Amino acid sequence: MHKVSLNIASAGYCEANRAHALRKTSRKTIRFYATYAHIQHPVHGHILYDTGYTQRFYEYTKYFPFSIYAKATIVHIRQEEEAKYFLLQKGIHPEDIKYIIISHFHADHIGGLQDFPNAEFICSDAAYEDVKDKQGLSALRRGFIPNLMPTDFQSRARRLSFDSATKEVRYLGKVIDLFMDGSILLCQLGGHAKGQIGALINADKKVLLVADTAWLKQNYIDLHLPSPIVRLFFDSWKGYKASLYRIHEYHKTNPDTLIVPCHCEDTLRQLTNQQ
Ligand SMILES: [Zn+2]
Repeated sequence: MHKVSLNIASAGYCEANRAHALRKTSRKTIRFYATYAHIQHPVHGHILYDTGYTQRFYEYTKYFPFSIYAKATIVHIRQEEEAKYFLLQKGIHPEDIKYIIISHFHADHIGGLQDFPNAEFICSDAAYEDVKDKQGLSALRRGFIPNLMPTDFQSRARRLSFDSATKEVRYLGKVIDLFMDGSILLCQLGGHAKGQIGALINADKKVLLVADTAWLKQNYIDLHLPSPIVRLFFDSWKGYKASLYRIHEYHKTNPDTLIVPCHCEDTLRQLTNQQ
């Protein structure tokens, strides 16, 4: 079984209301960091899980209908925070990224796809099918900005279906062993967005990347649900609750696995202090 190394960073953040992320709490403005993971595999090289924002967000939300997105979501991203520039500071060139695992196609997860010309895109078939032909308002309703997609996306995409997956992990369900070596297991975490995928990473410490199944750690630790208002943007509220419950149970039975909700400032600070 191969072990990989993993670093978590954030590429920008948006302003969010704490009471939306955790129902019946204070309506304080908090930062929703757009985190991504940089994974280094001893054989398969550099891999990303999501990319966070890039400044393209500003460019592509100038005009209607995507201007609605920018008005509803105040985004802060400086160029040096973008994944491409952050990795360059560490001597990793954009061409070195071999794979990008896309949890789902919301704009804060795919903002940097165009920056990595050699990457193969790994996503679930269900997630891609849900957005691929969407334009205008129907794209916006899915939090999807089509211009963020590389023009050659289709030819570089590996679209996964879990139907034929044979491995299972308790509470995570069917998993796809990406490199057939136990280093990265992909699991289905639908509900927030159709076909969302999480990743269980076999690093020094096991890490479970859950994308938007939990926004903050209180969601999965205490089963503290977001405000019902966020249902408007979710694919399936019932599916979301089922996925969150599975992560909650997984955490209880695997307390040593570090769970990373995509937007949690506490988790990000804990990790960046260790890195
Ligand atoms: Zn999302």
